Amino acid sequence: MKNISVIGAGTMGNGIAHVFAQHQHQVTLIDVSAAALEKALATISNNLDRMVKKETIQPADKERTLANIHTVTSIEEGVKNADLVVEAATENVGLKLKIFQEIDGFAPAKAILATNTSSISITQIAAVTKRASQVIGMHFMNPVPVMKLVEVIRGFDTSDDTTRIIMELSQSLGKIPVEVNDYPGFVANRILMPMINEAIYTLYEGVAGVTEIDTVMKLGMAHPMGPLQLADFIGLDVCLSILRVLQAGFGQPKYAPCPLLVNMVTAGKLGAKSGEGFYQYSTGSKELIPAPKFAR
Ligand code: NAD
Repeated sequence: MKNISVIGAGTMGNGIAHVFAQHQHQVTLIDVSAAALEKALATISNNLDRMVKKETIQPADKERTLANIHTVTSIEEGVKNADLVVEAATENVGLKLKIFQEIDGFAPAKAILATNTSSISITQIAAVTKRASQVIGMHFMNPVPVMKLVEVIRGFDTSDDTTRIIMELSQSLGKIPVEVNDYPGFVANRILMPMINEAIYTLYEGVAGVTEIDTVMKLGMAHPMGPLQLADFIGLDVCLSILRVLQAGFGQPKYAPCPLLVNMVTAGKLGAKSGEGFYQYSTGSKELIPAPKFAR
């Protein structure tokens, strides 16, 4: 597992590239957007600076890590020498199926193909390749260099060998892998998203305000972040799309997204990335201030 190709250089892709490169793998980071690749390298460099400042790594480690990362805009070029491909492109079924067909055609026959998808079926992705036993979910958490968990998801045909290799590789990156099976939302989002949805229903029904709901969950359940703040951090559009995967996959009304969440996404209130969700993020203040709509 020397050569790792990471497809998608966004929030997750740059973190995944960072972690592999820091652990002495040769990383090829691939994105259709040259600007995204440039931004990813700048982000990785800033994150490494922060680690040097905190003395978790030495300045020479930073240089070594950056030297292990190469960037390209072509999948064909980027995966041709890969031992492992980790796909972290935009969460869209059609796009991922197309990317996996391409990778399958260009990556060496022995390469393992992993996806960082939050909710799309690993079995469905594997079915468009000719190597379903070598396709697996490798679900890193955000921010990747900090979060310990990797949810390792076995598709219907994923082999024991592929699973063992990915579990061991995750451990060698200093992560704690957990093996789960491929059903909608896997484990992380199957449990997290209904909780977030219930918090939004609690707000929608006027049971309590934004700050009150998050305070109950932070102080009462020892969660580091309340569910509404976490939803803003993940992105409300992402939360909505995962709930729809759960609703479609299980066909049960309990997964139906709260109408308030649907309205907010339609209105472009996507959380931290758009400047407003349940809280305001464009004020420049570090204090968490509920969005004007939810002021009490
Ligand atoms: P993002 O929007 O930040 O980045 C996606 C990147 O993919 C963009 O840079 C885009 O240019 C690139 N891309 C799009 N089409 C491509 C193609 N055909 N070839 C190469 N690159 C392409 O998204 P993200 O938040 O980093 O999410 C990536 C994946 O990780 C998704 O599957 C998502 O569900 C999953 N994930 C996200 C989080 C999170 O908190 N953001 C957490 C866990 C898993």
